[in-house]
Amino acid sequence: MISSLKFAELGEEYYSRIKTQSLENTHLIHVNKALKAKLELNLSEKELLGVCTGEAKLDGIEPLSSVYAGHQFGYFVPQLGDGRSCLIGEANGYELSLKGAGTTPYSRGADGRAVLRSSIREYLCSIAMKGLNIATTEALAIVASDTDVYREHVESGAIVTRVAKSHIRFGHFELFASRGQTTEVKKLADFVIDHYYPQLKGKDSYLQLFKTVIFSTAVMIARWQAQGFAHGVMNSDNMSILGLTIDYGPFSFMETYNPSFICNHSDHQGRYSFERQPSVALWNLDRLANAIRSLIDETHLKDALAEYEGFLVKEYSALMRQKFGLVDVNEDDSKLVNDYLQLLYEHKKDYSISMRLLSKDSNNMGSDFDSWFERYHQRLDQEKIKPNQRKQSMDSVNPKYVLRNYLAEVAIRKAEDQHQYDEIETLFNLLKKPFEEHEEFDSYTKEAPEWAKNLELSCSS
Ligand code: AMP
Ligand code: MG
Repeated sequence: MISSLKFAELGEEYYSRIKTQSLENTHLIHVNKALKAKLELNLSEKELLGVCTGEAKLDGIEPLSSVYAGHQFGYFVPQLGDGRSCLIGEANGYELSLKGAGTTPYSRGADGRAVLRSSIREYLCSIAMKGLNIATTEALAIVASDTDVYREHVESGAIVTRVAKSHIRFGHFELFASRGQTTEVKKLADFVIDHYYPQLKGKDSYLQLFKTVIFSTAVMIARWQAQGFAHGVMNSDNMSILGLTIDYGPFSFMETYNPSFICNHSDHQGRYSFERQPSVALWNLDRLANAIRSLIDETHLKDALAEYEGFLVKEYSALMRQKFGLVDVNEDDSKLVNDYLQLLYEHKKDYSISMRLLSKDSNNMGSDFDSWFERYHQRLDQEKIKPNQRKQSMDSVNPKYVLRNYLAEVAIRKAEDQHQYDEIETLFNLLKKPFEEHEEFDSYTKEAPEWAKNLELSCSS
């Protein structure tokens, strides 16, 4: 049921074998049952707890932590690695990664732990992103414990079991390239092609792989931008070779619309602000290009990178057009869209709420928006699509429920202070299907209450 890791076949250059370190008095606080079924894990709750704490002995499979490098806030760090995560095996072709199961050779003096707060945030955001059709690592379960973990305050240790076909990052390539180990770079590229993109085998396979990474990254970023997601720490070691959203830290869904929104309060320069995400991803792809230039001709790399913007704009425009219910192409459409966004900015409106309201027949945004809505409704009158069909299409891309920080915070406090996990369950179910109405949960669509207006998110997790 849990099988050995393909990644292990790469050899010891790529990872270290580790032993997980136990937490005190562990228990499962939530399990993603649909994911458990997809992984074909027919385990009792007790057996699953064993797997998700790293305590279960899995025949002949030893956990490993991989080594990588990366550009953090623009600066190259020659060696990073899984400092608090390890791969414990595969289930139905997906890697299982425990985050918070103890130190590894890459912990760099840190404790190898994850706190309950950040584990709940990662768990909920993983399902939220999936619900929004944004490529992401998934999360199978959260384990809570009584072990103290020291951050700004004493918190409790937890483990998220993260799931992805592969956890390989741009930084894995950067590590070997920076050491001049071109054979290892090639072996890693071959591994990715063999196991994840076998259709690319043959002529130009490395260039095709790079183009695929560019495309999937562009699509992922376009969807982040359309849905108002800010990652917060887009270092090149946090960029997945499969184009998955990975390493949830101080992420945030943008609430009040502001393109220069910065969610990570340690990001003083705003390097990873919301509007810079598209260009930062390209910068990271350029770092990847540099790392694989032993495999691909320089001009081909450049030409491939030049395609990024087109991929991104195409995906973003298509999504934004659907969000606004625009089917027939009209040359004034982008102005119409941008004028709305500008109004949201000027009047400090909530992004998701304002987008969801577009499918209502009238202006629900206040009199400042009257003239814009007049233009908008005139524009919609030119469309051939039936209004009810249009509404259905718009509501299938404008979420009613997003993971607002205060909603996560309420669930976290309830879990921390009262050991009650029902709020996690409620949010999990709403975020799994964020486009559905669930009228009885309307209060979960509200903007942050006063107490939560200035919640600060740091990298500390
Ligand atoms: P991040 O930017 O959160 O992805 O983390 C950057 C690096 O720090 C990664 O190599 C992590 O594995 C490592 N790291 C973060 N927190 C811890 C921790 N508590 N213990 C050990 N390593 C950590
Ligand atoms: Mg990371």
